[in-house]
Amino acid sequence: MSEELKACPFCGSISVREGCDTPDAKWHYVECDDCHATSKADLGVSGAIENWQSRPIEDSLRKEIESLQSMTIVYHTKQVDALRDELELSRKIADEAIKQNEILTKQLDEWEEKEAACCPEDFGFEEVIKSLRKQIEEIKNVALRVLNKLDEFDYTESGVNWEIKSGITEIKRIGGKNE
Ligand SMILES: [Zn+2]
Repeated sequence: MSEELKACPFCGSISVREGCDTPDAKWHYVECDDCHATSKADLGVSGAIENWQSRPIEDSLRKEIESLQSMTIVYHTKQVDALRDELELSRKIADEAIKQNEILTKQLDEWEEKEAACCPEDFGFEEVIKSLRKQIEEIKNVALRVLNKLDEFDYTESGVNWEIKSGITEIKRIGGKNE
């Protein structure tokens, strides 16, 4: 019988048993052997057990925990979905940054050639080109880093990958300098 009884709500002991305290064995209760907490006494064994097994506060707390847990799952699922969308956008931005870099590099090559052919004197173009090339290289490195991170990113992990976020911010920042 005691296997079916719930653990003691006060000390958690599973050493609980049904007993009766009067000589005529009229009033029954369930008692914890460890802390001696007892259920409300009842005239019948089944009533005493029912009293012991009934845990309205515990049950309502359990229900509340369950509902909070399911809310948390919904919240996390939404977060992961939002993150996935954001990462997809990040991938597009990084891809686009690399594509734009190739175009810009080609244009710079042509520009440099023409400049060298027609303007032997230094008009400061060299410095401008050097700085543009440096920016292009920076964007490309960040974009490649972001793409690598995106490839190894585990969508099932909750939380935001800040490295990707800062990478994207950096691409936008460096990209903004070129405009
Ligand atoms: Zn107890």
